[in-house]
Amino acid sequence: MIESPIVRRASRQILVGSLRIGGDAPIAVQSMTNTETTDVDATVRQVRAIAEAGADLVRVSVPSMDAAKAFAQIRQRVEIPLVADIHFDHKIALEVIQAGVDCLRINPGNIGREDRVRSVVSACRDKGVPIRIGVNAGSLEKDLQKKYGEPKPEALVESAMRHIDILDRLDFQEFKVSLKASEIFMTVAAYHLIADQIEQPLHLGITEAGGLRSGTVKSAAGLGMLLMDGIGDTLRISLAADPVEEVKVGFDLLRAFRLRSRGINFIACPSCSRQTFDVIGTMNQLEARLEDVKTSLDVAVIGCVVNGPGEARQADLGLTGGNPDSLALFIDGKQAARLPGSNFIDELEATIRQQAEIKEYERSQLIAKAMDTH
Ligand code: SF4
Repeated sequence: MIESPIVRRASRQILVGSLRIGGDAPIAVQSMTNTETTDVDATVRQVRAIAEAGADLVRVSVPSMDAAKAFAQIRQRVEIPLVADIHFDHKIALEVIQAGVDCLRINPGNIGREDRVRSVVSACRDKGVPIRIGVNAGSLEKDLQKKYGEPKPEALVESAMRHIDILDRLDFQEFKVSLKASEIFMTVAAYHLIADQIEQPLHLGITEAGGLRSGTVKSAAGLGMLLMDGIGDTLRISLAADPVEEVKVGFDLLRAFRLRSRGINFIACPSCSRQTFDVIGTMNQLEARLEDVKTSLDVAVIGCVVNGPGEARQADLGLTGGNPDSLALFIDGKQAARLPGSNFIDELEATIRQQAEIKEYERSQLIAKAMDTH
């Protein structure tokens, strides 16, 4: 596995339930439910599906007192840390804090009277619940819209600093911040500006990015620029799609930057007339069959000898074409076996699974050894 050359911005670490965010913690991947929160069964099902896909935390919108009561039931039925998304209403905030929420997404400046802000912050302090300040270009304060004329990075940062100042005055430092716009240059500039001004963790996202394909590309372009510069402690890929897809894309993005690994990192050629087996069909089958594998493993699937042996040797496991009747299978850089030119998918899947188990065992041994020496 190649190490990432990225040097991450130093940030203060906060705790969202048992999940560490910021500091040396891995970049957390999150998504948000899109069910009616009052439909407890449907929301629990979706939270579990998002968790199963590998998410570290899940945000649930809590727009009413009924939703807050439902949230209390949801909290009891799932393990994963939950963030409650609340706008304005301090009573809802207090209710979900009592229900065991792990993080509140609320902007202190929108809560209203000082005594209400104080009561929410003090309840958060008592229960160890951090706050996420979330500024969105689409809902900037009226006076900032007037001052800047149109959403600008500086306007997003000024809005965030107002909320941060309120928490500062109350000596509350357990928060993270997001500054989202649907336009990637604005988002990237805003995060760069705030990254130098505060020490708290930053939650990344391109808001309203689009559908599965276009939103993935836009998010990867925008968040990629930030991740490359070491910015970002947690992220959500906002897609008009199943939230499970958001989690998969989030991990794919972090894996591409070698910032986090989970599951199989496929290296596959696009195929051409030189291929000696069906590369695309093989890839489609492997991706579908191996979705459940959580161990990080590089697997190369290359159609011919032009790049095949080179890529296959670099990967943990690599299949390469060449002889149409006999494909070469490399494991840990060495040719380990040959597979027939067709109908090999069951054997290939079994070998990859076996290799994943071996790697998992080796990693657990290394961790145990490292703990022994401390
Ligand atoms: S590796 Fe071989 S089969 Fe794959 S695209 Fe390149 S030349 Fe074509």
